[in-house]
Amino acid sequence: MTKYTCFACSKKISKDMMGKRVRCPYCGSKILYKATSKITKVKAR
Ligand SMILES: [Zn+2]
Repeated sequence: MTKYTCFACSKKISKDMMGKRVRCPYCGSKILYKATSKITKVKAR
């Protein structure tokens, strides 16, 4: 399943949650990006 991540609140959104309108159901942001690939984070010590 395709999942998106909200750019504003960083919550993960499934495609079913959005419906026809592409926007975040939590904060209403229209800026989303696909979370298909894993984002490599470097741990700060
Ligand atoms: Zn959001």
